[in-house]
Amino acid sequence: MPTNPTNWYCDVCGDQIATAEDGYVIWKVDEQHLDHGFLVVHNGKCDNGQYPSSIALPELVGPDGLSHLMAFLSHGPLRANPDHPTKPRVANIDQFVDLVRRLHVPHYEEARGHFGNGGVRDAMSDANEYYPYIGKVMQKIAVGEYDD
Ligand SMILES: [Zn+2]
Repeated sequence: MPTNPTNWYCDVCGDQIATAEDGYVIWKVDEQHLDHGFLVVHNGKCDNGQYPSSIALPELVGPDGLSHLMAFLSHGPLRANPDHPTKPRVANIDQFVDLVRRLHVPHYEEARGHFGNGGVRDAMSDANEYYPYIGKVMQKIAVGEYDD
């Protein structure tokens, strides 16, 4: 059974981030106060100070981490104000969901490096919206099973 991700590839240096404790998520905020440009980086050495916002990676993994990430999109029923419906805090939903999948979908991080491969794109061209991202498919993509 696929397990939750426990290591990542740094968006700055490309080396592996071996544990959540070694990582940070950093991002920028645009003029409309929307978050964007999310990166997963090594804590310290690869946080170049160009990104004003950050959260330690352990705070965004596991069940509580998923709850934290979902708060970027919705205040949820306990914090909702019917007079002021929640607006997502993110500028680009696809970019944000990529981050959520990197942190929560088994094998997504390793599979990401194969997404541009023609064989992978052909194999997934008829899939529904979620099938490519389920664990067993991500695992096959990650090991290059569909690569041409
Ligand atoms: Zn790094």
